[in-house]
Amino acid sequence: MRYSDNDQPVITLTSGPVNAYADVLRGLSSPVLYDYDPAFQLFHERLVEKAQTVMRLSNRPLILQGEPVLGLEAAAASLITPQDTVLNLASGVYGKGFGYWAARYTPNMLEIEVPYNEAIDPKAVSEMLQSNPQISIVAVCHHDTPSGTINPIDEIGAIVAAHGAYLIVDAVSSFGGMKTHPEECKADIYVTGPNKCLGCPPSLTLLGVSERAWDKMKANDDAPTASMLSILDWENAWSHDAPFPFTPSVAELNGLDVAFDIYLQEGPENVWARHALTAATTRAGIKAMGLDLWAASDSIASPTTTAVKTPDGIDEAVLRATARERYGVVFSAGRGETLGKLTRIGHMGPTAQPIYAIAALSAYGGALNLLGHQTNVGDGINAAIKTIDAAA
Ligand SMILES: *Cc1c(COP(=O)(O)O)cnc(C)c1O
Repeated sequence: MRYSDNDQPVITLTSGPVNAYADVLRGLSSPVLYDYDPAFQLFHERLVEKAQTVMRLSNRPLILQGEPVLGLEAAAASLITPQDTVLNLASGVYGKGFGYWAARYTPNMLEIEVPYNEAIDPKAVSEMLQSNPQISIVAVCHHDTPSGTINPIDEIGAIVAAHGAYLIVDAVSSFGGMKTHPEECKADIYVTGPNKCLGCPPSLTLLGVSERAWDKMKANDDAPTASMLSILDWENAWSHDAPFPFTPSVAELNGLDVAFDIYLQEGPENVWARHALTAATTRAGIKAMGLDLWAASDSIASPTTTAVKTPDGIDEAVLRATARERYGVVFSAGRGETLGKLTRIGHMGPTAQPIYAIAALSAYGGALNLLGHQTNVGDGINAAIKTIDAAA
């Protein structure tokens, strides 16, 4: 039996976009109300309040109408001025990429870059800030998804706050899947979205903005307004009697509302625990099959994505294509510098369930065997089952 490229896959275990929750899909099919209908305006105001609860913020977050690259680019455009010195922290493709956006708005760029299987050391940040007191903005990616590695943003945030610099955090693929909130890492702009661990389709940005970041953006004459890239335009849009800068994505907002309910009703701690257990189960199986994780150590391996180093002599694209064709299972490739070197097994939203680790290990190990790299899939599954049972 084979799954052709025209067949839909059986199981999608990617690190974004991810399968949406069934209830979110039902939410997406709710009536598309006129955005100035009072029912929609009240719904939207309650939705932003719900976002505030979910993000554990003391002020109102923003919902921007585009997938989170919009939020990242808007943060760079709105906060950074030519007078700023930006310290960009790069432990992967997304962290590195933010530096290119930042460099559009200031010539003063510094960077700490580590190999893309490692994490940023807070001590290095501290030393960099001490030797460069002019640094006014620090940018960090929490979970650099193409590497499946986590940076210690709460520690980094405390150091940056003590220095007095602003902090921009990309938490797109960690928020909702592990314990992270804007105020815990003292972020001034915290960018995330519903399309990873909250189990929605890609389409929206969630943005946490500190009061002092609002002040800085308002003082920046070049911060975008009357623009798709604007953050400032959305400041008051949460209120049911303020106008929208432009038509919001009504259907996606309906889906997001359901995703927040799922998250709050299940309980954030329970949601994080099943992400962590699914990742731990996957890691145990990968190791038991004699394979290597991409992350330099387990302590920095993400609970929302497991990156597996591609064994020597295996073409990673062929490996993924084989898993899809034979078993109907889809994984994510690396990106940029990690493309071809690793395969990513996503544990996000509805796929953050330990049983999916078994499917992932079977399809990954089975495909390796088909390509002539012998692995004992049974050992992987036994180790996985033990991990699941030990957590009961
Ligand atoms: C998914 C993701 C984004 C959103 O970007 P896309 O490349 O459009 O998917 C931003 N940052 C991180 C860390 C992500 O994982």
